[in-house]
Amino acid sequence: MEIAVSTGSLSLNTFEAIERAAALGFNAIQVNLQQAELRYDWNRKPDLAFYQRLGEAIRDRNLTVVSAHHPILNGAQAFSQRARAELLQAAIRAAASLGAPMLVVHPADIFTNAEDLEAYFLEHNAPPVIAGFDEAWAQSANRKLRLAVENVNYWRGTIMTNHAEHLARVTEDLAVYAVLDVWRGADKPNIQKWVERLSQRILLLHMHEAVDGREHLPPLSEKWAEWVPLLRATAAQACVIEAFDPDGLGRARQYLASLWGMADLPGPQGELAGWNLTEADLASSER
Ligand SMILES: [Zn+2]
Repeated sequence: MEIAVSTGSLSLNTFEAIERAAALGFNAIQVNLQQAELRYDWNRKPDLAFYQRLGEAIRDRNLTVVSAHHPILNGAQAFSQRARAELLQAAIRAAASLGAPMLVVHPADIFTNAEDLEAYFLEHNAPPVIAGFDEAWAQSANRKLRLAVENVNYWRGTIMTNHAEHLARVTEDLAVYAVLDVWRGADKPNIQKWVERLSQRILLLHMHEAVDGREHLPPLSEKWAEWVPLLRATAAQACVIEAFDPDGLGRARQYLASLWGMADLPGPQGELAGWNLTEADLASSER
């Protein structure tokens, strides 16, 4: 098991984030693709050279990229299937430059809209993917990059892919994989069900916790001791901590490593300067 940290937890400047990940002692990361760095906009020319440079910097540091995470859509992209199809292709190319084995996507990145997705869950029709999804799927397969859908529900009162039955069905229908955000999925309906329905499709675990509506706190509670033994039955080879308290990140890394039965990990390797992310920053990078 690799215990990774998401770059979005560390900085919106991803070069800075990899420095911080290494300083905290992590040797594995999830790269959150950032809108400001990928720069897919009205010109329709994403900055893929940025990800080649970033990939080199990551390899120089001997960091393992366990996943790349699709950028969080901006308002204009959310309402254009063509923009989302192009963004998905750009994200696939960026992920390939980073040597990532998988690209994590949210339902909004690949489905036409929430209403169609809800209708699909109720009826026996085909999954409502955006035009261009099939081509993107083929591109990712050619690059040996796995697409993995996360159990996310954007809008209050909607379920989207955050239910074991839903994510099982949609990943089977699309021949893609799954990422389990453990805390958010824990009561949908329970961890045992996620494992039963999706075990071999779950390639990655996202780990953080929420208290009183505040999400992305470090995974340090006793719940993880109960869940980790169940999660061993999935195909996940990595878990990604998504939280932004630097002290808590280091402690969470040690805690999770002990729960997975890993040997002692090396500690932090340096001081962290200029740590000034706020919860709002992370909310914009990982909803
Ligand atoms: Zn996500």
